[in-house]
Amino acid sequence: MTEHWYPAYVGLGSNLQGPARQLEIAFELLARIPGTRLIRKSSLYRSSPFGGVEQPDFVNAAAALMTRLLAAELLLELQRIENECGRERGDIQWGPRVLDLDLLVYSNQKIDEQGLTVPHPGIGERNFVLLPLAEVAPGLNIPGLGQIEKLDINFSEPAISRIG
Ligand code: AMP
Repeated sequence: MTEHWYPAYVGLGSNLQGPARQLEIAFELLARIPGTRLIRKSSLYRSSPFGGVEQPDFVNAAAALMTRLLAAELLLELQRIENECGRERGDIQWGPRVLDLDLLVYSNQKIDEQGLTVPHPGIGERNFVLLPLAEVAPGLNIPGLGQIEKLDINFSEPAISRIG
């Protein structure tokens, strides 16, 4: 934990066991992370699965936090919440999951460590990450990618719609 408060952005996704409800629970748990405030919650977005695995649609969202935790400390908290919400470690990549929490952006930092890459890889191509992120962080400058509104967002692939 540091003395300073840093902005951090988290991507949420679920496609099992009532995804919309899972994300509401996740927002509540994010708000309870020590040294951290939940500043904004995005709408929920429904998106078709990605990565070629046959599975239910995903519900995605994003959260804006202010936190005194370091990025690695925050990631541990996100993993604790995933586990509390029934996520099995070792789930297949891009397969069905009760809750997936990704640390998308942490302050203006670029991090490339074992187990932690920030900004989260691939966010620049994923509409189900960028649309909710742009909603909670208009004007965000994503380190290495640039201003979120200037990115070339593909609105049709995977198919995505706002559900509330
Ligand atoms: P996933 O199955 O997509 O949730 O990936 C989980 C793995 O990604 C974990 O082993 C994390 O250590 C690693 N990882 C690397 N960078 C990040 C990040 N920015 N946010 C979340 N997980 C990350």
